[in-house]
This record gives sequence, C-alpha cells and structure tokens, in this order.
Amino acid sequence: MSNHSETAANRPLRVAIVGAGPAGVYAADILTKSSGVKDGDFQVSIDLFEAYPAPYGLIRYGVAPDHPRIKGIVNALHKVLDRGDIRFLGNVTYGRDLTLHDFRAFYDAVIFSTGAIKDADLDVPGIHLRGSFGGADFVSWYDGHPDVPREWPLEAKEIAVIGNGNVALDVARMLVKHPEELLTTEIPDNVYQGLKASPVTDVHVFGRRGPAQVKFTPLELRELSHMNDVDIVLYPEDFEFDDASDEAIRTNNQVKTMVNTLTNWLVEEHAESDNPSSRRLHLHFLHSPVEVLDDGTGTVGGIKFERMQLDGTGNAKGTGEYVEYPVQAVYRAIGYHGSALDELEYDAKRGVIPNEGGRVLDADGSPVPGIYTTGWIKRGPVGLIGHTKGDALETIGFLLEDRLNLPPATNPDPQAIIDLLEERGIEYTTWEGWNKLDAHEAGLGAAWTGPEGLDHMVRERIKVVPREEMIRISRG
Ligand code: NAP
Repeated sequence: MSNHSETAANRPLRVAIVGAGPAGVYAADILTKSSGVKDGDFQVSIDLFEAYPAPYGLIRYGVAPDHPRIKGIVNALHKVLDRGDIRFLGNVTYGRDLTLHDFRAFYDAVIFSTGAIKDADLDVPGIHLRGSFGGADFVSWYDGHPDVPREWPLEAKEIAVIGNGNVALDVARMLVKHPEELLTTEIPDNVYQGLKASPVTDVHVFGRRGPAQVKFTPLELRELSHMNDVDIVLYPEDFEFDDASDEAIRTNNQVKTMVNTLTNWLVEEHAESDNPSSRRLHLHFLHSPVEVLDDGTGTVGGIKFERMQLDGTGNAKGTGEYVEYPVQAVYRAIGYHGSALDELEYDAKRGVIPNEGGRVLDADGSPVPGIYTTGWIKRGPVGLIGHTKGDALETIGFLLEDRLNLPPATNPDPQAIIDLLEERGIEYTTWEGWNKLDAHEAGLGAAWTGPEGLDHMVRERIKVVPREEMIRISRG
C-alpha cells in the first residue's frame, strides 16, 4: 500500500473517463475542480475518451433537434473542455481499440460513463415485423448518428408510438411535425428529405396507465400544441383517475399541470372542429400493447392492445377487453437500456454496471480497485441531464476517498497513450479537431439557402453525418 500512496502522491493522478457525454464531462469537471482544493499538492491529469469523433454524447445524438434549449447545455460543456485541462480523445472505442488492461497500464483510475443508447425490449408477438422500430434507433437517425443507415423507411400514413415518456413525445413529434418547421435546426439534409417525403397523417401515442401517470414533463407536453397544422386528439374514455391519481394531482405540481393541459385539450377539441389540420397526434391512455399485427406480408398492419383500468394505487390491470388500430408502423419508446462493457460485470436486467455509489463491483460484489462509473450506465436511463451532476459528485467523492490506495499506472506519462494509439493506427480525434468540425458544421449552416419561400431561414449548423467525413475534417 505504501508503494501505491507514494506513486499517487508524487505525480498527478492519471484518470481516464470513457464516454464524453454530459456524465463524463461533469465527472471530469468535478474531478479537476477537486484537485488542489482538498489537498494542496493533489494534481490530476484527465483523458476523456469518446467512441464518436465528436464530444457531447446524448446531447449531440439523443436530444431532438427542435430542443435548442437542451442542446444549449453544449455551451456549458464546451466551456469545460475548452479550458484545456482535460484532454479529449475521440473516435476511440473501449473494448476494441483499447482494453481494460491498456487502461490499467496508463491510468490510476478509470471512470465509465458510456450511457444507455439501446432500446429496451418489448416482448410481444410481431415486434420484429418489418415496420416495427426502436425509438432510440429513430432518434439516432434524425440526430445524424454516424453509425446508422442514412435512409429511414417513412412509408406509413398511420403510426403507433408505444410509451408515455419524453422519448415517446420526441419520436411522435418528429414523425408528425411538418419538416419545414425543423429547417432552422441542425438536422442533416438526408433527415429533412426523408421526413419531407413521409405520407404520415396520424400518429397515435399509447400509454399503459392513465393521464396522471404519464412520465412526460410539462414543458415537453405543452410544446405539442405549438406544431403547425397538427391537431391533438384525445379520448374521454381514457380519462380515468383513481385514488392514487387524485393524490398525485394534489401533491405533485408537475402531474397537476399535465393533467390540466390534457383535460383542457380534451375540452377544446370538442369545442372547435371547423378547421381540421392535415395531420393528427392522438394521445391514448390505458392501452397495454399485446401484439403487433402482420398484414400478411411480414409487415406491420396494425397493433392490438388490452384496455387497462387503474387499480387504486396508480398501477393498471387488464380489463379483458381488446382493441386494434390499423397502423403501418410501430415505434416502441419504452425506455433506453445500457450495454455490457468488456471485462466488467453487467446487470443485464437493469442495463447497468453493478456498482456501489459509483465504485464498480466484481462478480462477488466487492469493489474493483480503480474502476468507477457514473451517469446512465451507473444508475439506469432515468432523469434529466442535470441529474447526472449529482451522480458524478458521488462517484468522484469515492474516487477521492480511494485516491491513495489506487493500483498505480505502470506508465503514467500522458504521451504514452498517444504513442499507443498511433502505434495501433487509431485515427483518434482531439479537442482542436472538434473545433475544426464544429466550425465546419457552423459554416455549412451559414452557407445554407432555404428552398423557395423559406430562403429567409437561418441555420446555426448542419451536422456532418458520415464517420469518415467527421474524422477527415477533424484531423485536417
Ligand atoms: P421513461 O420516462 O422511463 O418512460 C418510459 C415509458 O414507457 C413509460 O410511460 C412507461 O410506462 C412505458 N413503458 C415501459 N414499459 C412498457 C411496456 N412494456 N409496455 C408499455 N409501456 C411501457 O423513459 P424515456 O421516455 O426513454 O426517457 C428516459 C429519460 O430521459 C427520462 O428521464 C426522460 O424525461 C428523459 N428525456 C427527457 C427529454 C426532454 O425533452 N426533456 C427527452 C427525452 C428523454 P410506465 O410508467 O407504466 O412504466
């Protein structure tokens, strides 16, 4: 142990953070600010790794393009990385380009902040039919993710979206919104062209519980009513409230606001129907998915639900009554799920790395020295981006507590990892590289001229999608 403490005390602590989304950047920021504060001589040297050539993770590849307020968090993250005391290394994939053994050689501690990017499974017959999609995959497409196909099949007139969380709202909004309204955003051109060709008329969002049990947030719900030429349609028979709903409405302002919004829409919808829109967004409650129906050719032809009723506790139980809707596409947005990481234990049910407050655990439940985790891969895919700061604080707290007992890097020289990446021919990108790509994307936005009639529109950025092009621009 004295050997460890001597090593850690005599040079900057070397820490690798894997995943440059908000979780990773917050952890890097908190750790940097902790150095030299708690102990006068404590210095830290951080490398922030990212599998994509660009930083910001979920903000670049998970937040809907028409949410500039959330995208604005990028400005805060940019400031952190622009200080110059955290080294960004993009386009490096853990498990493929670098192993845990490599990390152990070059760093005293590793923090995994790889997030949760996959769709949770929905185990109903027909879920694998053509025309049945994961919401997260669609998000990746409209956010210009480098590793998904450029084309997305938007052929359905009627679409079902399963789930009552904010991702379901993002997916439904992107499907039903007239794409001209997205032209001021950073959407890639292939996404605009794809959405423009969509014949959609009706998007149906289905929740399995009632209006007081939705997982939306009020702002995200209300913005649905700001879309041009889209009517919101609700159904009186879905408006059921049990004792737990009444309690939630009484004690939780968010629930109260959302129930009010939904109830007002229901009333307004019945008051005025003279000027119908060309597209409709239907919000259904108390529908639990039972089967995705085959049209006879292996393609989605409809969806079957069991009608539910609230059981007094805010949960829902089946009524034995079934309903079917003719739809040609189904998107499940029932939550994200994490992915296993090489050489680390994985809780497949929860989609997280087993951990205690961010200290990663081995198969016996003991902490693995020097290995930590934060963000969605630590606690599961719930909560808004800001919540990740609390997570990072907790993880960094434990790392600092362990600081003098970490298994020391055998090769802590910061140049050593660069030499290894070069030796392996890995085309890593840097912060300077990101600044080049960032400027390039802003330039594409500035040079853009809209289609006739929309040529007054200004675009802040247009995203570069192909990975090779991102790398080429970043690496000059
Ligand atoms: P979520 O908030 O957990 O919502 C998941 C939804 O899927 C719930 O309505 C859930 O119903 C439903 N569901 C789960 N399993 C189901 C099943 N087997 N059948 C039918 N429905 C099922 O997850 P999310 O929408 O993926 O969002 C993840 C986090 O990111 C949330 O914290 C969210 O607020 C945040 N986010 C925020 C924004 C934003 O714009 N602010 C955008 C996207 C995401 P039950 O409630 O009955 O389980």
